[in-house]
Amino acid sequence: MTESTKKDASQTRSFDALVIGAGFSGLYQLLCLRDRLGLSVKVLEAGAGVGGTWYWNRYPGARCDSESHSYCYTFSEELWKEWEWSEKYPGPPEIMRYLNHVADKFDLRRDIRFGTKVTAAHYNEATNRWHVTTDSGEVLTARFLVSAVGCLSTANVPDIPGLDTFKGKWYHTGQWPHEGVDFRGTRVGQIGTGSTGIQSAPVIAATAAHLTVFQRTANYSVPARNGPLTPAFNRWIHDNMEEIRTTMRAAVNGHPFLLSETLTLSIPAEERHARYEKAWEVGGLRFRAVFRDLVTSNEANATAVTFLKDKIRKIVKDPATAEKLADIDHPYAAKRPPIDTDYFETFNRDNVALVDVRADPIERVTPTGIRLKSGAEHPLDIIVFATGFDGMTGSILKMDIRGRGGLSLREAWKAGPRNYLGLQVAGFPNLFTVTGPGSPSVLCNMPVAIEQHVEWITDCIDYLRTNGLTQIEPTEEAMDSWVQEVNRAADATVLPQAKHSWYLGANIPGKPRVFMPYAGGMAYYRKICADVAARNYEGFTMTGD
Ligand code: NAP
Repeated sequence: MTESTKKDASQTRSFDALVIGAGFSGLYQLLCLRDRLGLSVKVLEAGAGVGGTWYWNRYPGARCDSESHSYCYTFSEELWKEWEWSEKYPGPPEIMRYLNHVADKFDLRRDIRFGTKVTAAHYNEATNRWHVTTDSGEVLTARFLVSAVGCLSTANVPDIPGLDTFKGKWYHTGQWPHEGVDFRGTRVGQIGTGSTGIQSAPVIAATAAHLTVFQRTANYSVPARNGPLTPAFNRWIHDNMEEIRTTMRAAVNGHPFLLSETLTLSIPAEERHARYEKAWEVGGLRFRAVFRDLVTSNEANATAVTFLKDKIRKIVKDPATAEKLADIDHPYAAKRPPIDTDYFETFNRDNVALVDVRADPIERVTPTGIRLKSGAEHPLDIIVFATGFDGMTGSILKMDIRGRGGLSLREAWKAGPRNYLGLQVAGFPNLFTVTGPGSPSVLCNMPVAIEQHVEWITDCIDYLRTNGLTQIEPTEEAMDSWVQEVNRAADATVLPQAKHSWYLGANIPGKPRVFMPYAGGMAYYRKICADVAARNYEGFTMTGD
């Protein structure tokens, strides 16, 4: 037991490590540092419970797009075997039940302080410790600081004039009221048609008197084909953790299936079409894996674009609405590819209308609804902002993080995030980011990316301790070459071609346009990180007291 854990827990202000956030990342980071390394650790969490993104995102239709048996931890076979998922894709209540079960099983709650927002974290060079300030003004200190704040936790409510005059109610999907929203008998306006809006629109339309979907950028979507898991499938899951984990670790995106070996244009058009049809029937993100080169070749991608736009035109009965929905300006999967339950079918309902706000932009919110530039008025009782997040950097930069010499992270990243392996930033010793920019994170099935990062950070801290070292940070040269690698990997794909993508920061006015996640693939990235560690943390500077 270390010095700080001997004291009364409520008195303790000084820890070996502080972790910010109690989602998938923070929970596992606590377990690793506390139970495997024996460190004193405290997790600081803004919410009243565990769950991270799932704690906040309880909007109608919310559902994970990773298959449930892959959207969980693999570090404990016992945990794996005792948990049974009910559906192919888990919704927030089931994921929350799972994470609460994990917190209880591993007795994590006693080291988490809920309802505690971190406002600042300053590095003290004299003591080589982080001083972390919370919203109550309290200051806690630690040698190591791990940001586990998630990639999509800072809601983006666009600055639309007049919102404060609206007499109805408005909600952002990422800050959904826990008691839910009753849409019965109301006229609802939903702004946004990303993964979230595509999930929420069908569910809102099912109870609202009327739903108007305000679409700025049309989007592809593939049916999720959600459904209950059979007892036989659940038995197979329980008996095959190793095999499933091996597949996820070998996969480019960390999912429990591999990319097809077939190149899109290597087979005749009819056979290609038949494969697309089959993949459409299978549904979900497996559609993207139907050919090897869909995100690396524009010519290959164009065949998916044609297939998916044809599907929209076949599903949506009104030709003018179908054309607006199919008027998509980016390659398939260049933005996060949504999966849905009856999204396009929703536009066949009498109580649903689509408004193209690229052609006729929103001018303002009025007391009674939304007015477009043309003067068209849409009377509304409720506005739902499915407008996404200040992704990847929003939550970390909201805190006043200062490293060596008082340098602020905001200043260090003013031209976009720069780090090494997505894990550390020069000038900010002993600060680690779990699934931060520059790592595969949002391009990967999250728990797979999280387990790799958390375990790498744990091993790194263990290495420091074993070798009498107390400080680690990357060199500027290592960061420069990693930024180059992140850009190279992105440019080898069609992903940067989506100009309105949050991957590029393009959804936030004034945010630098930098492709943030690492697109080189999770399996390749895992190897790079392992090699760096095996070469005694090459690219990092490590010192002792
Ligand atoms: P998003 O992908 O950023 O989509 C936001 C939507 O709001 C876009 O259609 C955007 O249009 C629109 N929008 C933003 N500001 C607007 C404005 N001022 N006027 C009109 N339209 C505006 O956000 P999201 O749908 O919340 O998804 C974010 C990410 O969360 C996803 O990419 C995914 O990684 C994750 N997610 C995952 C799941 C899942 O697992 N199933 C579900 C939901 C979300 P533009 O495109 O023109 O900017």
